Amino acid sequence: MKPDNPEHQPPDDAAARRAVAPVFVYPPEALPAPDLALYRAARSGAAKVGEVLVPPRDARAFEVAAGQFFRISSVEGPQVGDLNLWNARDLAERFYSGKTRALHGTHLSTGDRLWSSFPYLRAMATITDDTLDWYGFDGDGGAVHDVIGTRCDPYTQCLLGGDPYHYCCHSNLTRALADHLKLPLAEAEAQVHDVLNVFMCTGFSRDTGQYFMKASPVRPGDYLEFFAEIDLIGALSACPGGDCSAGHSSDEAACFPLMVEIFAPADGALTGWAPAPASGYDRSHGRQQ
Ligand SMILES: [Zn+2]
Repeated sequence: MKPDNPEHQPPDDAAARRAVAPVFVYPPEALPAPDLALYRAARSGAAKVGEVLVPPRDARAFEVAAGQFFRISSVEGPQVGDLNLWNARDLAERFYSGKTRALHGTHLSTGDRLWSSFPYLRAMATITDDTLDWYGFDGDGGAVHDVIGTRCDPYTQCLLGGDPYHYCCHSNLTRALADHLKLPLAEAEAQVHDVLNVFMCTGFSRDTGQYFMKASPVRPGDYLEFFAEIDLIGALSACPGGDCSAGHSSDEAACFPLMVEIFAPADGALTGWAPAPASGYDRSHGRQQ
C-alpha cells in the first residue's frame, strides 16, 4: 500500500506530473472483434448436450468442444464460482487472467474473450451472454466477473496464520482436474491457475487500492454464457465464500451449487467460423536463429 506519510518530498512539478492524461494501454478497437451475431444465431438453434452440477465447496471439470457453448448458472442461492480453462489437447495452454485483464479491464462481460497463456495467446472462449451486465460499476467501484483476484487457497491462509482449509477453490480445482484426468494431485495442482471469478463482486478501494469483495448480486436464474473458441477442459469451483458477503476459506458461509450446461449448435450454424490459430510470433526473442 502507498504510505500515509511518504518519506520523500514531492518535486516542484508534482501536480503537473500527476495531471497528464492516461492512455489506454490496449485500445479495445485494436482487438479482432468476435462475431456475436453469428454466435447468437448459432446459440438460438443449439441443443443441450450435457450438464454438470458443481456441489458447494467443491469443483467439477467438464469438456466443451470448439464451437459449443457453456453456461454457468446460479441455482438455489447466491454463489460465486472460480473458473479455470485449459486447451483440452495441451494443458500448457491455459487461461491467462492477467493479459485478459490488461486487454479488457478488471471485470468481464459480453463480447470479452478469455485469452490463453504464452506462447499461444489466442481467444479460448468468448462471453456471449451475461444476465448481470446491468450491474456495471457500483458506488464502491465494485463489479462482477473479475480477473483481479486469484482464487482462495490454503497457502495464503497459512501465510496469514490461519488453520489450513482444504475446500478452498485452489484445492477444489486441483481435486477436480486430478479426478477428471486421473492425475496425481501434485501434477493437477501445477496446472491450476488464476481464475475468472464468476458472479463475484470485487474491486479496489478508491483511497488505498486494496482488494475488496462484497455480497454478489447474483440470484438463482442468473447466468454467464461462453462460446468455446477451441476444445476446452473447464473446471469450476463453488467457492466456500458462498456469495462472498463476509468471509471465505471456512465452512461458515452459506454455499449453493452452480450449474454448468453445454450446448451444441446445429450443423452448419457456424459457417465461416474457425478456431483461432495460436500466436504467430516466431519466439526468437531477439536472438538470431
Ligand atoms: Zn474461492
